[in-house]
Amino acid sequence: MIEQQHQEQLREIVGENNFKGANALGLLDPGKNAQSLDAGVAVLPETIQQVSNVLSYCNEHSIPVVSQGGRTSLAGAANTAEGQLILMTTRLNKMIEVDVDAAVVKADAGVTLQAVQEAAAEYGLSPGINIPARGTATIGGMVGTNAGGLEAFRYGVMRNRVLGLEAVLPNGDVISDMKVVSKANEGYDIKQLFIGSEGTLGVVTKAVLKLEPADSIGETALVACPTTEDAVALLRAARAFFKSDLLFLEGMWSTYAKLGAKEADFKAFNQLAESDPVLYLVVETSAKAEPLEDFLAKMAEQEKIVDALIAKNEGERRMIWHIREDSFVIERNFPAGFPFDVSVPITHLADYANRVEKELAALDDSIVLIILGHLMDGNLHLSIKSLADVSHHQAAVKEIVNRNLMEFGGSFSAEHGIGTEKRGTRQKLLPQANLNLMQLLKDTIDPNGIMNPGKVL
Ligand SMILES: Cc1cc2nc3c(=O)[nH]c(=O)nc-3n(C[C@H](O)[C@H](O)[C@H](O)COP(=O)(O)OP(=O)(O)OC[C@H]3O[C@@H](n4cnc5c(N)ncnc54)[C@H](O)[C@@H]3O)c2cc1C
Repeated sequence: MIEQQHQEQLREIVGENNFKGANALGLLDPGKNAQSLDAGVAVLPETIQQVSNVLSYCNEHSIPVVSQGGRTSLAGAANTAEGQLILMTTRLNKMIEVDVDAAVVKADAGVTLQAVQEAAAEYGLSPGINIPARGTATIGGMVGTNAGGLEAFRYGVMRNRVLGLEAVLPNGDVISDMKVVSKANEGYDIKQLFIGSEGTLGVVTKAVLKLEPADSIGETALVACPTTEDAVALLRAARAFFKSDLLFLEGMWSTYAKLGAKEADFKAFNQLAESDPVLYLVVETSAKAEPLEDFLAKMAEQEKIVDALIAKNEGERRMIWHIREDSFVIERNFPAGFPFDVSVPITHLADYANRVEKELAALDDSIVLIILGHLMDGNLHLSIKSLADVSHHQAAVKEIVNRNLMEFGGSFSAEHGIGTEKRGTRQKLLPQANLNLMQLLKDTIDPNGIMNPGKVL
């Protein structure tokens, strides 16, 4: 635990009500990573000045600081340890300003994605980024991890959505670049340094995000594909058929879909499952789109699909999305195992998935490979599970997943960040010159190494 005298000083900087010790933290949900509250001490600054004062104090006394938004990140980036300070952005949540003419929203770092979506929707606009953790994940955390999600194939990842940013450096300096214009060539693009840096360079306090016209939802279907190759063919066909009216296209391999449908007691799913598909796709179109039925009929003629269910009402639509988004179903059924978040060029997606499945089965036939993902980006979330103890296979499993990725030109870290989980892989797979430059940046901006130590680098 941070020394008592430092705790008293920090309490003074943020005020009594914005300071939490171990007992108060014990009441909070640690999120997906059990160690996120282990530091036992947190500050919840309400102003940029307080953030700056906290950081300069910690810098002077070499106290490590871990920023936290919603604690929904999935690679251990928000984990903390004794002797560290948690800087929660929950109370930096006052501003959400939509500028309709400029089609931008300015938001404080602690504002949730859902709050931004709702504010933009009042003007028929949308931030063009959407993740299932929308109700809890914050703008600051999404900048920190360079979040991707369900709409990235249309509008890009956070890196493409952020126009401006304000951040506080470890020495307390405030970097302000709250541009609302996309054309601004003013030297190095400093804001990009903070996007995806997982709180290792400073604390993001505000951001400006681009907005897009909001779409009215048309139809939603759950589609059964006999093979991964057929699903990939459908991706291409859907893009050509619907063009910008294709709103979402998500993939769930059958083990995942079956687990979800069973838990949710989705009776209509059972008929689809009879066709024994390798994977299911969730396809959603805009209200302006050609009828989904016409597209699916074409796909059936070409034998790319074996069955499909078009949601007949909002209840069925919600059920389809619930099954796709409730990924905790995996942990509920298989607590142990190894998660991966990778991306593969779509051209090689089927070969990659098939090869990994085959090699894992050869390694240990008790292994269950569960895959879901944002297929239009070639982004797969692989969970390698077993009811038996397979912990001794960790190195071999990583080797299979990553060797094939490298061969097909994919990425070992698609959208969840490096955190603590992928540091070793990053060290192994990135060119030394790239690693050196990143370390140089870190050492320059955070010479005392106080910002989220043990993450990313
Ligand atoms: C059910 C579920 C579904 C998900 N789906 C997706 C998905 O589709 N796509 C996707 O990309 N992710 C997804 N995620 C992961 C997660 O929601 C994202 O990583 C999100 O961006 C994290 O936001 P957060 O506010 O919870 O950040 P936290 O978990 O609190 O923090 C994440 C990282 O950002 C840093 N950080 C937080 N706030 C700041 C700040 N103000 N300044 C600087 N650094 C900061 C932290 O130190 C940490 O390194 C999902 C998570 C869950 C639980």
